[in-house]
Amino acid sequence: MMKFCPNCGSLMTSRETPRGTIFVCRGCEMEILRTEDIETIIKLPLYDPKKVPEFHSEDLWINGKRVPYYFLGYYLPQNKTQQDEFSKSVLDFKKGYLNVISKFAEDVVNLIRFKKLKPDIIIPIPSSKKGEISLGHKLLVDYVSNELKIKNGTRILQRWYSVQKSHLASPNKRPIERDHYLSITCKQRLENMKVVLFDDILTTGDTARACVRIIFECGASKVYLITLARTKLVR
Ligand SMILES: [Zn+2]
Repeated sequence: MMKFCPNCGSLMTSRETPRGTIFVCRGCEMEILRTEDIETIIKLPLYDPKKVPEFHSEDLWINGKRVPYYFLGYYLPQNKTQQDEFSKSVLDFKKGYLNVISKFAEDVVNLIRFKKLKPDIIIPIPSSKKGEISLGHKLLVDYVSNELKIKNGTRILQRWYSVQKSHLASPNKRPIERDHYLSITCKQRLENMKVVLFDDILTTGDTARACVRIIFECGASKVYLITLARTKLVR
């Protein structure tokens, strides 16, 4: 029996049971029971398609492992070009504007639900300054862990000495992956955990790569990287 999902429009598979026909959506995993001519939702959908943000995805390969990477848009650096609305909102996130932080936090929740990542924990990438985590990182990770009922990994990755901020340092002084790797420690074992690693902007990717390595070394079985933006290089 063919049926399309009333929530997301994907095809639903059906099976007959003593209670009636059960339809299962291949997209949002919603389940509907049909008895005579009454339909009842018996499992809620994983996501609301109207709330799924636009996003880009690609695979990174780190330590021979596939690390799916998702980001919401491209960041155009200040001064080099006219900044678009998205880039401005990413800067507002960095400045700690609460309405922007909540909007991005909802986007990240809906992206994780839509991609069915089902992580055990979300961990923010620490800032370049010793012991620091930005307000945006902290609040976003709090929100996502509450909404998805997963562990809050704030302070699991810690910077124990400061490194130069990449975008402020001249190219030959810019920290490389090894500098990040050496200056960041993992405070807890992550045995067999599926981890979402979060950062606001990915530029060279050196910090993220170092963090992914560290997380795998702490025992994680899977790492997904999510950033709000990826820097668009303008010549
Ligand atoms: Zn569906």
